[in-house]
Amino acid sequence: MRALSLCLTHPDCGLHVPFWGHPERVARQEAALAGARRAGWREEVPDVDEGVVVAAVERIHDPSLPLRLREACKHAPTLFDCADNPIAPGTYRAAVAAVACALEGLGRLRAGRAFRVFAAIRPPGHHATRSQAMGFCFFNNAAVVAEVACAQGMGPVAIVDFDVHHGNGTQELFYHRNDVFYLSVHRYPFYPGTGSADEVGVGKGRGFTRNFPLAAGADDDTYVEALSFGLEELTKAVTPQLWLVSAGFDAHELDPLGGMAVTAAGFGRIGTLLAQAAAGKPLLALLEGGYHLKALEESVAAFLLQLVGPGEAGT
Ligand SMILES: [Zn+2]
Repeated sequence: MRALSLCLTHPDCGLHVPFWGHPERVARQEAALAGARRAGWREEVPDVDEGVVVAAVERIHDPSLPLRLREACKHAPTLFDCADNPIAPGTYRAAVAAVACALEGLGRLRAGRAFRVFAAIRPPGHHATRSQAMGFCFFNNAAVVAEVACAQGMGPVAIVDFDVHHGNGTQELFYHRNDVFYLSVHRYPFYPGTGSADEVGVGKGRGFTRNFPLAAGADDDTYVEALSFGLEELTKAVTPQLWLVSAGFDAHELDPLGGMAVTAAGFGRIGTLLAQAAAGKPLLALLEGGYHLKALEESVAAFLLQLVGPGEAGT
């Protein structure tokens, strides 16, 4: 039987230890993994090849970014690029491991050895711009994978981002392109300040970025309705050969940062929508935000269960 669902993770992601009290903390990874286990997803730890990861990161980021981060970690603890991004001595290795999991996911999908992959990784990625780390993010995991996938002939690629924050980095990186469609549903106005409905791409990329800004307090129905509209527009504009999901769970009603009212069941409905939209095409979901541990575990479980449908997890 075809291996349907696979959860990829790496212990090195736990080497990124921001100062005490920082919401993007080590325990998030274990909470996400607990959710994946509850959903019955098989778990694997891929090998990390730093050279392969850095080469992939340099395809989409300024090549100075990985170098700067590696050097900065020698002087940790310190801040990197902005006050949101404290680093530890192991932050570079954690960021490399996160990308390695994402790339392994792409490889498994491409080889037909998985159909739905969840990468339980940190640090997250969608705020990282071409040359800057920000918003708890260092390397843009989703953007790195999208770029590699396009180079391997797997385009067009859809990136669907349901994190409560707008993925400014991902949008910026593909704003001018028509081979990667970026769709985001998020709270607005809110950090990082981008993501209004009139941000739709430029040049040949016009129409390949779509934002659904939502007011504070949005609930399951509001979130699901916006995502549903967005997916309809996306599938009219492109026929993705690969679906990437920036899976942030900080729109949960218990999240300390998000200010929204989505429940775990709501994330399950989002999983259903994405499963229907992706249909027979491969899908890779990458963990972004989600800062209440129990809510994160329950939301990941509900999301992944619906992403494959009842009784279909595992091999
Ligand atoms: Zn977020």
